[in-house]
Amino acid sequence: IDTAHIRNFSIIAHIDHGKSTLADRLIQLCGAVSDREMVDQILDSMDIERERGITIKANTVRLDYTAKNGEKYVLNLIDTPGHVDFAYEVSRSLAACEGSLLVVDASQGVEAQTLANVYQAINNNHEIVPVLNKVDLPAADADRVRQQIEDVIGIDASDAIPISAKTGVGVPDVLEAIVHRLPAPKGDRSKPLKALLVDSWYDPYLGVVVLVRIIDGVMKKGQKVRLVSTNAVYQLERVGVSRPKKETVDELGPGEIGFFTASIKQVADTRVGDTIVDEKNMDVVPLPGFRPAQSVVFAGFFPVDAARFEELREAMGKLRLNDASFTYDMETSAALGFGFRCGFLGLLHLEIVRERIEREFNVDIITTAPSVIYKVNLRDGSHLDLHNPADLPDQTLIESIEEPWIEATILVPDDYLGSVLKLCEDRRGRQKQLTYAGSRAMVVYDLPLNEVVFDFYDRLKSVSRGYASFDYKMIGYEEGDLVRLGILVNAEPVDALAMIVHRARAEQRGRVMCEKLKELIPRHMFQIPIQAAIGGKIVARETLSALRKDVTSKCYGGDISRKKKLLDKQKEGKKKMRQFGKVEIPQEAFISALKMD
Ligand code: GDP
Ligand code: MG
Repeated sequence: IDTAHIRNFSIIAHIDHGKSTLADRLIQLCGAVSDREMVDQILDSMDIERERGITIKANTVRLDYTAKNGEKYVLNLIDTPGHVDFAYEVSRSLAACEGSLLVVDASQGVEAQTLANVYQAINNNHEIVPVLNKVDLPAADADRVRQQIEDVIGIDASDAIPISAKTGVGVPDVLEAIVHRLPAPKGDRSKPLKALLVDSWYDPYLGVVVLVRIIDGVMKKGQKVRLVSTNAVYQLERVGVSRPKKETVDELGPGEIGFFTASIKQVADTRVGDTIVDEKNMDVVPLPGFRPAQSVVFAGFFPVDAARFEELREAMGKLRLNDASFTYDMETSAALGFGFRCGFLGLLHLEIVRERIEREFNVDIITTAPSVIYKVNLRDGSHLDLHNPADLPDQTLIESIEEPWIEATILVPDDYLGSVLKLCEDRRGRQKQLTYAGSRAMVVYDLPLNEVVFDFYDRLKSVSRGYASFDYKMIGYEEGDLVRLGILVNAEPVDALAMIVHRARAEQRGRVMCEKLKELIPRHMFQIPIQAAIGGKIVARETLSALRKDVTSKCYGGDISRKKKLLDKQKEGKKKMRQFGKVEIPQEAFISALKMD
């Protein structure tokens, strides 16, 4: 295909602003899918993604469009992941395109996630077409949002396109704008092959499928290619495009987006952002921006039922097949036995993996407190990257501890600004910027990641009644006065509940933890002390009083069935509990106890 007739674009939108719905309409208008085959959110293929309304893998669809001028065009839509945890994947998808549709809900306005992605698109030299969606809603105010796009993002929005992705109004104008306002890709057919590895996933029938954007040269079945970062060579078995049904093609040329398969065993062998070249081509300048995936948040996963460890191991292996950014290593905990220390791109990623293990593999798990990576500088001059609070060396051996900081951008309506500022201050934040756009404030804070990983996002939503939006990027490490806060239940340390906290916040956190655990641990036949300690020093204590009587003792008389019912009910409750010394702690305790109120 002649590059002048190709347009590659992505859709940028804050969650729920209508990205998937618009994609569905574009696919329908171009006749890529028959009405019978049309399902909502055709690009979001995984169940969990569909339920949560997020996309994890970049997805693509090739559309044939005949413009009003009679010319035929090939449009490639790349649907990018929509969450900050997947910012790197988003940046590579954007690098595969020349332009973006910026979809903003005309009844809501610009949100933090929109900003982050639009700046990435601008960094990738994208031409941006603003689209005002949901104009069918009575609350839609296209003029206000157009002005807001100019004020907040700083791009010209005078010819923003008003549409309703739901009813289809205005969508044909979007197609014309793609053809006339976005630039065609450049590229040279006669040069040696150079392609960008945009994303990859595991398909049970095809094996690993690799999504690519051809920069120069051509890609054909049978060709031998080399992945520059690993030097691995593969022979291409199938080269094709997604419409969104997979279709094989003879070749992919410059400017085209498509996929290949090549008997690649696992997704981890293909790295997003890598450069693909001819096998023999040894002196290439790799495409800019490549970065290996890196875990930011770590947590322990342990089976509730220790006997199911092997099943958990199998589940981990299967998930890893399809998710190179999820890592795991075996771990043993004094309290929880055998399990895994897992690394994630962020909290949402953690939640997704946890949910999949429970749902798809049916293994109930206990998740320990998520932790960031600390840099521990020891007195003997050595350094340690600490992923697990339980591994923190003795305080006397430590010179200093450094923790990661992020820069957070929060957009919030005026009314809730006070509560948001308070939340950030409570989490050791340092305000960097506070500006207004209309009745909305944009605040930029530097925050320690450790104060954000657990429940910051939930808290932010609750103090702003859901109106605040949040986005962040890592900015680096900084020394902090950090200590290990341990929890003892009935005088036994529960390592899975240990965490690293700032000294100034340790006592308060300890108190909250003890109070929470007192609520969450059922009463036993004996009294149970619950304590929080820094080193040997107890900083908080609660006491769970003993049960006065056997629960069945009130069923005197001959009511056997009632007694049995009561015992069954207890057994049910026990299913998701773990024994710690003489005490049973329910699964929820591990997550709930760490949430701060
Ligand atoms: P995404 O998260 O950006 O992919 O957003 P979706 O496409 O999933 O849309 C979020 C919600 O907004 C869904 O309930 C859609 O039905 C609804 N929606 C999308 N476009 C429109 C529109 O133009 N008008 C109205 N009223 N609702 C819309
Ligand atoms: Mg969506």
